[in-house]
Order: sequence, then structure tokens, then C-alpha cells
Amino acid sequence: MQHTYRDYLIRKGPAMDDTLREKLITVLRSYLDACGDCHSVDHTLRVRNLAIYLAQFHPGIDRDLLEAAAYLHDIGRGVPDGRSHAKISAELAQKHLNEMGFSPDDVRLVRTAIEEHPFSGGTTPSHLLGQILQDADRLDALGAIGIARVFMYSTTRPLYDMEDPFAALRELDDDRYTLDHFYVKLLKLPETLHTDEARTIARSRAEFMNQYLQEFAGELDLVKSHHQADP
Ligand code: FE
Repeated sequence: MQHTYRDYLIRKGPAMDDTLREKLITVLRSYLDACGDCHSVDHTLRVRNLAIYLAQFHPGIDRDLLEAAAYLHDIGRGVPDGRSHAKISAELAQKHLNEMGFSPDDVRLVRTAIEEHPFSGGTTPSHLLGQILQDADRLDALGAIGIARVFMYSTTRPLYDMEDPFAALRELDDDRYTLDHFYVKLLKLPETLHTDEARTIARSRAEFMNQYLQEFAGELDLVKSHHQADP
């Protein structure tokens, strides 16, 4: 079955009650509207759409809970208190979902999914709902949007190592060079995904990134050969 760009927009959407969705989006905005980095509201809404898209292949998943987890998964990023953003987000999600009247079991499931979602922990989520959330979050780091986010997030490190842009003769180091981040993390993401549908999307997004990197290398070569031709 062919999926078009429109499929990703999920225009029809799941059956979440509009009032509940509005409440969740209000909570989301109260934390992330002021947060201008690449984990802000637009990222969250894409993760939500991707998660709901992936959930259609897993009928056992409670879409309301998945949608709630997606809306709330990064709200702790706006609260810098030294702990991981996932832990803070999970705690805040628990508080807000309790207030909204979700059952204790449902709150626990969402809280765990949020706690287990980050890349940095290297955690495989213990429940399929958490795996779908993690897949959706990782997919948003790939493809055209993934490329935009890398550069948006990289205002303090150089674009590449001028001596050895593609690390032919050195260790990759994405703390030092933006370009290295594609190889240290992003192009490895497809292997880390849990659901087949996410892997399919990830492979095509990674292929696009590879094409982009080839173009990038070609442009550098052109500049280099002109530089060498200078008298
Ligand atoms: Fe996220």
C-alpha cells in the first residue's frame, strides 16, 4: 500500500474527544510556546501525527493514550532543573493527566512511555505504546525536517572540520562538528526503531539524507578544486 504525504497529516484523526485534545494542547503550549528550540510545539505535533499514523497498524493500541503521551512527551524541556527532560516531562504528564481524570493505570502507562522515550537513555520501551512514541520521536530527526533540525540545533559548533569534513582520517566527533552528527546518530536511527512501518519511513528518510550528504560533499569538492587551481 502506497502512503502519500497526505497520509501523514491524519486529517481524519483518531476519535479523541475534542475537549480533551484542547486541554492537552493547552498544557503543551503552556510549557513549550516560549521554548524556541527544535523540540518546541511544531516538533511535538509532528510526533503526535507520526505516532497516530503508526498506531493504525497496531489496533490494540489505545490511541487516546498514545496521543496524550505524544503531546506531553517533551513538556519538561521548558523546565531546566538538572534532571533529564524525560523524567520531568513524565512527572508533569502524571500531574496533568490525573487532573484531567485519566485512570491510574492509564496515567502509569503514559508516564512510563514518556520516561522511556529518549534516545540518550538507550532504553527500549517496555510497552508497544512507548515503542511507537519513541519511533515517532526518532522519525522526526530524519529526512528533510531532520536536516533542518540538525542545523537549527547547531548554532555553536562549526559546520564541519575544514581539514577532514567527512572524517576520513579522524574519529567522528559531533560535539565538535555538526556534519558528524549525521554519522554519529541520525543515520543509525533506522536500525533502532521497533515497528516495521516506522522502519520503512526511516529508510526512505535516511536515503534522502544520504543524497543530501553526497550533494554536500560534491559542493565541497568543487570549492576545493577551484581553490587548488588558484595561482
Ligand atoms: Fe521529542
